[in-house]
Amino acid sequence: MIVAANFKMNKTRKETIEYLKELKKIDFEDVVVRVYPPCSALIEDEIVGAQNAYPANNGAYTGEIGLEQLKEFKIDKILLGHSERRNILGESQEFIAKKFNFYKEQNFEIILCIGEKLEVRKKGIKAVVEVLKSQLEGIDLGYEKLIIAYEPVWAIGSGISASVEEIRQTHLEIRKMTNQPILYGGSVKLSNIKEILNIQNVDGVLVGSASLDVEVFKKMIEIAKEIK
Ligand code: PEP
Repeated sequence: MIVAANFKMNKTRKETIEYLKELKKIDFEDVVVRVYPPCSALIEDEIVGAQNAYPANNGAYTGEIGLEQLKEFKIDKILLGHSERRNILGESQEFIAKKFNFYKEQNFEIILCIGEKLEVRKKGIKAVVEVLKSQLEGIDLGYEKLIIAYEPVWAIGSGISASVEEIRQTHLEIRKMTNQPILYGGSVKLSNIKEILNIQNVDGVLVGSASLDVEVFKKMIEIAKEIK
């Protein structure tokens, strides 16, 4: 099982260091734990990855960080294609694929986020699959360090996760495309994580808001440890 925390634009470096110290008080056993803090809080730690980076070593890309800055903290894990970057920051599929290929070349572990908007979900699974396929364009689905995160846009930060049946059906469709791990993300909480992790083809979760409280995240890892 993979349990990953996306801090988004939350927490300072000091807070992230304290969080990691507290988190590491528990034994993860065979659960793969990941933490994605903001770029200002990157820390050299095997469980820490970047939420985003530009597909270049360094250069004239104001406001961005690149491989050189990640290497300073020995970061070799990255989150790409998050719906907030696709929809708020306007990242195109072409640009996401460019980032994917750049960081794949660097042998990074890549969590690639995909997910449909509510109007698409309302049209049914066929329309959902069409969107997901378009968000996988240019992505090597056989890359051994690829992890897919299925995150319906309407479930992110809304407090309402997709239903068990929606997750089961969608993960099955994604499974037809790749053998790589598939995470679910979107309003995962202490109250629903066990049910979600028990769904077929769910290999873990990507947690936003609920991960900000280290005690909650620790409990989530404890629940994941029980699932075989
Ligand atoms: C996310 O944005 O990756 C996410 C899953 O957020 P939340 O858990 O807050 O819905």
